[in-house]
Amino acid sequence: MAGSTDLAFDWGGASIAFSVERSERRTLRIAVTPDGEVVVSAPTHARDADIVSRVRRRGAWIVRQQARFDRWRPRTPLRQYESGETHLLLGRPYRLLFQPDPTIDVRIDGDRIILKLPQDKGLVFRRTVLRHWYGLHAHRVFPERLAAMLPPFERLGIERPRLVIRQMTHRWGSFTAKGALVLNLELIRASPSLIDYVIAHELTHALHPDHGAGWQDLLSRIMPDWRIRKDELERELL
Ligand SMILES: [Zn+2]
Repeated sequence: MAGSTDLAFDWGGASIAFSVERSERRTLRIAVTPDGEVVVSAPTHARDADIVSRVRRRGAWIVRQQARFDRWRPRTPLRQYESGETHLLLGRPYRLLFQPDPTIDVRIDGDRIILKLPQDKGLVFRRTVLRHWYGLHAHRVFPERLAAMLPPFERLGIERPRLVIRQMTHRWGSFTAKGALVLNLELIRASPSLIDYVIAHELTHALHPDHGAGWQDLLSRIMPDWRIRKDELERELL
């Protein structure tokens, strides 16, 4: 990543901040993450003022997307990655403690996440470092959970799918036409039982593409309490 900058546009009397990541691309892409953060991918030479006006034109859609994701994280305000904020890892809440330091480091100390960074680094940098740290946990935990969830599916002839872990804007996971299991990096904030639900949900799609009776019956056989986990995921997380 070539580094990103923060810009903002005015909307209904409020200022909505967004990060801009520049790359060799021709078009502008606007995404709203499950966090409610607005991330814009822009051509390298696009002017800031042009980006702001183009993003503002999508303001209604952006605010709608943020409201849509609000129900996933009813108690968490937009994160600023400041000391005192609560961040989840595997369903456990940790308090963020930001410590100015010349070297970059993230570690857990008791019920705190200690984030060491040079003092002059801003929001986007802090967020990137923390996301990278979450990514390390995701790459450790998700393959373990997949291995734990797989046996009943293997007995039905489903092979271990390729696992793709990435930031997703609209969902917790998907099962692609080519048979890959995609998991949202943000899911590492959820407890293992909810990660398992998303994995089982997606693996069931290997046999039933929609959420019809066949899909529900199979998932209910493998994970009888899936509806409780689904509600928990929608109510508690992020
Ligand atoms: Zn589904």
